[in-house]
Amino acid sequence: MGDEQILPALTGLIMENQEPEPVTEPGHNHKRIPRFEPINREQMVMRAVDVEQLVDQEHPVRAIWEFVGRLDLSSFCEQIRAVEGERGRPAHDPRLMISLWVYGYARGVGSAREMARLCEYDPAFQWLTGMKVVNHHSLSDFRVDHGEALDKLFAEVLAVLMVEGLVGLERVMQDGTKIEARASRHTFRTQKCIGEHLEVARRHVEEMKAQSDEDTKGRAAKARERAARHRQERLESAQKEFEKIRTSQSKEKKKKKKEEQVRVSETEPEARIMKHNDGGFRPSYNAQISTDQLCTVIVGAGLSQAAGDSDELEGAIDRTERNAGKLPEQVVADGAYANAYNIHLMGERGVELITPAADTVFQLEKNGIDEAFSRHAFVYDEATNSYTCPADKTLKYVGKEKRGKIFRERYRASVADCQACPFKPQCCPSSKRGRSLMRLENQSEVDSHAAKMQTEEAKQTYKQRGQTAEFPSAWIKEKIGLRRFRVGGLLKAGLELVWACLTYNIQQWIRLRWRTKWAQAKT
Ligand code: SF4
Repeated sequence: MGDEQILPALTGLIMENQEPEPVTEPGHNHKRIPRFEPINREQMVMRAVDVEQLVDQEHPVRAIWEFVGRLDLSSFCEQIRAVEGERGRPAHDPRLMISLWVYGYARGVGSAREMARLCEYDPAFQWLTGMKVVNHHSLSDFRVDHGEALDKLFAEVLAVLMVEGLVGLERVMQDGTKIEARASRHTFRTQKCIGEHLEVARRHVEEMKAQSDEDTKGRAAKARERAARHRQERLESAQKEFEKIRTSQSKEKKKKKKEEQVRVSETEPEARIMKHNDGGFRPSYNAQISTDQLCTVIVGAGLSQAAGDSDELEGAIDRTERNAGKLPEQVVADGAYANAYNIHLMGERGVELITPAADTVFQLEKNGIDEAFSRHAFVYDEATNSYTCPADKTLKYVGKEKRGKIFRERYRASVADCQACPFKPQCCPSSKRGRSLMRLENQSEVDSHAAKMQTEEAKQTYKQRGQTAEFPSAWIKEKIGLRRFRVGGLLKAGLELVWACLTYNIQQWIRLRWRTKWAQAKT
């Protein structure tokens, strides 16, 4: 800092520490010196705190405590070893731990350390804990140690909302959103590189085992050994992920992507590089959220490693049925879910599916085909097992293939016919082998679905999808701040998603029931 900067700063300090200027009142001769409240920081203060009065009666923390108190939390108690009448440190009450996490997430606090700090001075957290200390290890372990119990809790919350008339299950909107994984993109390595690191990690663990007892004593040595073992386990599971990726890839993708282009994170092997709405590619998971339209309550949430949504509807429907005890009457999903298998599956389960017609989405847009030349413009002849196109040419059967879980038969026009055809720019602009058509094994189901989607009623229903389906994921990202998981791995990240959805649902109850109760009491 130069002299010209230091001088004004020093002048400022001097001015602050100066005695107040005497003030002369108009009409008086004597000078008045202002007197201020002294600040004494060298004293000890004991203060009586009325814990009950730390938050007012309408504070949301009271609503959360009341709501959680209505739930059956016995599954959270199964692991508790401290029992009445026996020695040992008492455990934290699951009602308190759940309320802390729900209130924490509602305030956008997802870090156990930050929450432990807030418990020391924030009135709402102090009210919840009764001014007791809850350390960050207990908070952190509680969040990820109760997978099954958490699923039951989610269903329990849903049951309360159903009893209160906030869930109808008449129409459920399905949506997928990408949430960033904890791993950095810089931790992604090729299989060759992971193999080399694994060799080093194995040697390191062997060396540690060979060390004398003296060297492995003590907490620091044990922690080092544990860390080395965990690294080896992570690298081994990264090796397995390569196999998983290979088996899940379609033949075309395998051809496009060379072996050395496939990479897996060495710190969080289950994370996948996915494309986000902003166009960026980041390590992520695909969060599938099912939302009941009546009061925008989440009825199912799960995490997947798949970048696309097309195979996620079956799992979403199963989760909704498990949580709510029954299937929804109707599911509305965007074009990413529109495929023959989903149409077949929903028909089989008795759930009406509203999605854009599969043909329109996947064939026409992708291949630049005019809507007037969709497969409906081609006439099928069962006797010859062939199609006739709008130019009266024949598309012959050329073979059968399996796409996903559905078989389909391929029909193709001759190259000569299409090259000479005046409709080629609208019918097959990019095809060099002549226009082809697919006939699915459940083609009649797909056709009747496409016909239904042409009706005004289906179009109007589909228009309502965005508003309901996208609201919870936007809320979870904006209010809870869950743009990136704070815990690593598919299982733990999945649990964090359930915590976030649980918080969202309880917030909906507070908004629609708790606040209404107070508003009515005031009038
Ligand atoms: S481009 Fe080929 S398939 Fe299409 S209308 Fe013409 S001849 Fe028929």
